[in-house]
Amino acid sequence: AKAAGKNRFLRFHPDMMQALVQRTHMESGLQLAVPRGEITVDFQPIVSHRMGQVVQLEALARWDRGGERIPPSIFIPLAERTGLIGEIGAEVMATGMVQLSQWLSEDPSRSLAVNVSGVQLQEPDFAENVLRLAEASGVAPYQLVVEVTESVFFDADCSLIQQLSALRDTGARVALDDFGTGYSSLGRLQDLPVDTVKIDKTFVSMVRTGNERLPILSSMINMAHSLGLTVTAEGIETAAQADYLTALECDSLQGYLFSLPEPGDRLHQALHHAEEA
Ligand code: C2E
Ligand code: CA
Ligand code: CA
Ligand code: CA
Repeated sequence: AKAAGKNRFLRFHPDMMQALVQRTHMESGLQLAVPRGEITVDFQPIVSHRMGQVVQLEALARWDRGGERIPPSIFIPLAERTGLIGEIGAEVMATGMVQLSQWLSEDPSRSLAVNVSGVQLQEPDFAENVLRLAEASGVAPYQLVVEVTESVFFDADCSLIQQLSALRDTGARVALDDFGTGYSSLGRLQDLPVDTVKIDKTFVSMVRTGNERLPILSSMINMAHSLGLTVTAEGIETAAQADYLTALECDSLQGYLFSLPEPGDRLHQALHHAEEA
């Protein structure tokens, strides 16, 4: 047994070893990220193009590990695998609500959108905790949007549906993120407990000149509207894309054209100036 163990070790390629060490290093770093205050939140506005107003702000988690920015596409999946997502998600939610309560004093119609992982929705007291946090920060439930991806519904158990329904019963809304990238989107949409769909940026990026015919985009929007859902298009980078989606009666838009995700204080100033102008 000892010899076999040794052999196995020898077959372990140095690159694999390095990858493992790096991953372990990243994991132990992530464990300390919340206590060390390394998790911050950037906000990106969601605008109503027609009204020229910021209607919502999406909270996006950031991890600054000793001056090094680790992208959420790396640390969020890691946090989901290691069970740290609950702690990180709660931190994002709390920070987001404190910021929102400041923005609300200027415009009470604004709401906060927070990304939530399937893992968090498995917690039986998820909805309760969210509502308690909201109350503590003076944010009303209708000012909250929980963004989930379609994948959370794949092996949806009753408890997940219960958590989302409990939130919706209080007036909070649920948005289906990355809409169109899953397999069952269009067919199952009417069965899902959601209020809004967010059209994934891969579809928005198909609009280049604004003169093309993209039946897929109009189908997605018409389908959502016919079910009584509102539609947000994400990843809007050009005026042609904004105009195209607005012509299709998309309800709100989000993307670099309007604003990058920014720290709350910086965005707060920008929003304030925009209002005065
Ligand atoms: P998402 O929820 O789909 O968020 C939109 C992503 O697109 C963000 O990337 C945003 O910075 C980026 N984006 C915004 N406008 C544009 C644009 O015009 N063009 C392009 N190319 N990209 C744009 P980010 O911040 O790197 O986040 C990546 C993903 O990480 C998010 O995708 C979300 O799935 C996840 N994530 C971020 N924060 C959290 C969190 O607090 N909790 C959970 N569970 N997931 C999070
Ligand atoms: Ca999102
Ligand atoms: Ca998205
Ligand atoms: Ca995404």
